[in-house]
Amino acid sequence: MTEIQAGVGAAVAAPVSQAVPAIELDNVVKEYTSHGEVVQAVKGVSLTIAEGEFFSLLGPSGCGKTTTMRMIAGFEDPTGGVVRLHGEDVTSVPPNKRDVNMVFQSYALFPHMNVWENVAFGLRRRKVADDEIKRRVGEILEVVDLVGREKRRPKEMSGGQQQRVALARALVNRPRALLLDEPLGALDLKLRQHMQIELKRIQREVGITFVYVTHDQGEALTMSDRIAVMNDGLVEQLADPREIYERPATTFVAGFIGTSNLLSGTVQSVTGEVALLALGPSDRILIPAGGAVTTAVSTGDAVNLTVRPEKITIGTQQPEGELSVVRGTVSEVVYLGTYNSYLVTLADGAEITVFEQNAHDSTITAERGESVWLSWQPRHSYALR
Ligand code: ADP
Ligand code: MG
Repeated sequence: MTEIQAGVGAAVAAPVSQAVPAIELDNVVKEYTSHGEVVQAVKGVSLTIAEGEFFSLLGPSGCGKTTTMRMIAGFEDPTGGVVRLHGEDVTSVPPNKRDVNMVFQSYALFPHMNVWENVAFGLRRRKVADDEIKRRVGEILEVVDLVGREKRRPKEMSGGQQQRVALARALVNRPRALLLDEPLGALDLKLRQHMQIELKRIQREVGITFVYVTHDQGEALTMSDRIAVMNDGLVEQLADPREIYERPATTFVAGFIGTSNLLSGTVQSVTGEVALLALGPSDRILIPAGGAVTTAVSTGDAVNLTVRPEKITIGTQQPEGELSVVRGTVSEVVYLGTYNSYLVTLADGAEITVFEQNAHDSTITAERGESVWLSWQPRHSYALR
């Protein structure tokens, strides 16, 4: 059994149920023994993916994304934990009996077959009637926008077109879930961005659950309904793209997604819902002291916190109001067209990046070497786990 054939033998999709999750991982662990040493590739991942969801596993190379995906597909046996597909425990069910298909970065198209034959291959093997093959292949080639290219061989097509053939070949089987492992990795940036939009459109059109593996945060933010950010075999945060970006839960997520300023300090006092961290004589950072979405803090706690560059206001006058305020010296100014980027060094040597939108006029607020005030709303920084 090769990986490409997975799901080819699967039955036609059963009616979709909203109540039962498409995919559930329950404390799934995978250990490999390599040169006598045990490597924990996945250290206990639990997550639930809804029917019809575009779900991404995002994280740096080696964090366990592919291993997690392969356990969903059935190519790897978990060392521990349970995998459920549509409510059914499939932990020991072989890949060809699972109603999922996998698409790989390498496409793995048959080079001697043309587009039509590549896409029809799985249906032929399952002895689907000729007129139904014709109809389904035709339909799916329309979805992936390859009508008119049926007679081409893989080597006569661009990388993006080959990727669409691979996608069509998986989708024509009507799996209930499609697993995609870095499928755009081989494409150049422009084509990748185009295919991101295309993939999202195709997923919406066919309504199938997509599980998408990527190390590219932009890709995950663009396409996903929800993202599981993985690090070192564990899920650090599972949320929708906005929350992952606006409220990274951990120091790792804050550093991995977008540009973040990471600061640390000790809570000096808590007044109502706001905690005060004192830095220098004229500096203070206010953070939410607790609540449903942020980590609760109390006096004496050492905390790491984050604030996004675009939330910070840079000025040459001391700001007024209930704001976090720090002083520093501008060490770099970069004009980036739609915005200016400042690097500001604080008294203790910490560096803060500030983005200033060029909304009205494109004058620079402060030059290199100037002393500045940085300020932001308390709700825009908070303690990280
Ligand atoms: P990712 O897809 O996020 O880059 P992987 O799931 O491929 O990560 O790998 C996670 C970890 O497990 C890595 O440290 C990798 O070296 C290790 N690993 C993966 N497959 C095997 C294997 N077959 N044997 C030994 N170690 C493996
Ligand atoms: Mg991988």
